[in-house]
Amino acid sequence: MKKTDRNCIFCKLANHEIPTNVVYEDEFVLAFLDNSPTSKGHTLVITKEHFENILCCPPNLLSHVFLVCQKIAHSMVTTLGADGFNILNNCNECAGQTIKHFHVHIIPRYSSDKRKMLEFSPYQIEDKEYLQIADSIKQGIE
Ligand SMILES: [Zn+2]
Repeated sequence: MKKTDRNCIFCKLANHEIPTNVVYEDEFVLAFLDNSPTSKGHTLVITKEHFENILCCPPNLLSHVFLVCQKIAHSMVTTLGADGFNILNNCNECAGQTIKHFHVHIIPRYSSDKRKMLEFSPYQIEDKEYLQIADSIKQGIE
């Protein structure tokens, strides 16, 4: 049985309880235009089943989500004239996740638009700490 959260707006979209501008749909995912886009064609890809974030999404489904992202991004290049795109996931509130249903943003980018988005400032770090961080992450990978 698929997980659905009755209070989740993305579950309602996935179940077609709320209309949206669908760009792709299959048994497992739904992709639709973001209703507050940051560029022309900004699309969200969601799993039809409710998972709070990327860490909760089963690996096979996660692979499928990103294969769909690639298809959609390719279409943005060929049909919208996008010169590139950002594919991103915000995981948890501190990273900007506002809807607690796993979703991936595909944001087409246009060379001519000169828009600044997704700027990160450098994080200062010592060489020794670099090695410790790499070791920690390596140890945590199953
Ligand atoms: Zn949901």
